[in-house]
Amino acid sequence: MDHSELTRLAATPPFYAPQGQEESIFEHAHAQSLPVLIKGPTGCGKTRFVEHMAARLGRPLITISCHDDLSAADLVGRHLLGTQGTVWVDGPLTRAVRQGAICYLDEVVEARKDTTVVLHPLADDRRVLPIERTGEQVAAAPGFMLVVSYNPGYQNLLKSLKPSTRQRFVAMTFSYPEAAVEQRIVEQEAGVDFQVAAQLVQLAVALRRLTDHDLEETASTRLLVMAGRLHRSGLPLLQACQAAIVDALTDDGDTAEALGEVVRAVIGITA
Ligand code: ADP
Repeated sequence: MDHSELTRLAATPPFYAPQGQEESIFEHAHAQSLPVLIKGPTGCGKTRFVEHMAARLGRPLITISCHDDLSAADLVGRHLLGTQGTVWVDGPLTRAVRQGAICYLDEVVEARKDTTVVLHPLADDRRVLPIERTGEQVAAAPGFMLVVSYNPGYQNLLKSLKPSTRQRFVAMTFSYPEAAVEQRIVEQEAGVDFQVAAQLVQLAVALRRLTDHDLEETASTRLLVMAGRLHRSGLPLLQACQAAIVDALTDDGDTAEALGEVVRAVIGITA
């Protein structure tokens, strides 16, 4: 177990404002050794939720950000050449399986297809990790839990979860929190007062209604927190929103202009 995992184990749960019944669903899934799939847009609280639940359940958390080069060997481990010859080095998934940690695979649909071969036997009743290279079958230690997330907004036909994979998981759908909850999150996370938080949430609601622009993503809770933090640090709110929200969302001049108009309408000259 490395130092960062130990630190996480000892930490008190980070602040998390629930959207619904997700905490109790997760607790029951953990008690039943069932894997969990979290769907939702970027920056809506998926990672924070998993961090919060791992601390609450007293389990170490190993997070893996998936990308299109991530292979089964990156998860499971590989032989490395050392001074004593070749040695087997466990990958992060194997460490989680041996330790009984919660293993969180963020944006799992990005990973290479060969990863499903190692995830499937872990995600069903077998709860075993086959290590092809060494012939070992590692049984998951008590407390081990597989959690994966993905953003259905990015989904295309090539990059969606196969039914045979998704049916192994208890699924939860996240979206941006309702206004009162999001306001509390922005107040807490950015350290701004409730009026500023309310304006930022009002802005997010207006921006999320814009559908006639070619935006891949819309204003997330994360972006609101960033704008709030810039403002708390002394930047006028209008500028903070321009930098942390508008320019973060688009590279296109016309779209930026349209989003900027919404910002000026909502934040106005009070900023
Ligand atoms: P995701 O994993 O969905 O991309 P994160 O969990 O990283 O999003 O959330 C981004 C940021 O937004 C967090 O660091 C936190 O500041 C804030 N946040 C979003 N939702 C919540 C929530 N429900 N409770 C507390 N903070 C939240």
